[in-house]
Amino acid sequence: MTDMHGRGFCPRCLLKDVPEGEALAALMAQWLEAIPPERRTEDALYRDRLSRCRACPHLSAGLCALCGCYVEYRAAQSRQRCPDVPGRW
Ligand code: SF4
Repeated sequence: MTDMHGRGFCPRCLLKDVPEGEALAALMAQWLEAIPPERRTEDALYRDRLSRCRACPHLSAGLCALCGCYVEYRAAQSRQRCPDVPGRW
C-alpha cells in the first residue's frame, strides 16, 4: 500500500513504526511524558491496548479512523477507552 506520494505505507503500524516518522515519534514521546502519573495506563495494559489496535481494521499509520486520535497517546491515558466495540479496550 502507498500514500498519496507513492511512498510505502503501513496501515497496521503504530506511529513509532511509520517510515520517516522519527520527528512525530519524538513528539509523541514528549506527549506521553507529559501525562501525569496518576492518569497513565499501567505498562502491561498499555502494551495490551496497543496490540489490540495493531489488529484493528480502524488503525491507519498510527491513527484511529474512528476517533482521529494517535492510538499511542489515547491508550496511554487510563481513563480513555476504545471508541469501537465496547470491551475492545
Ligand atoms: S477502534 Fe479501538 S482498537 Fe481500533 S484503532 Fe481505534 S482505538 Fe484502537
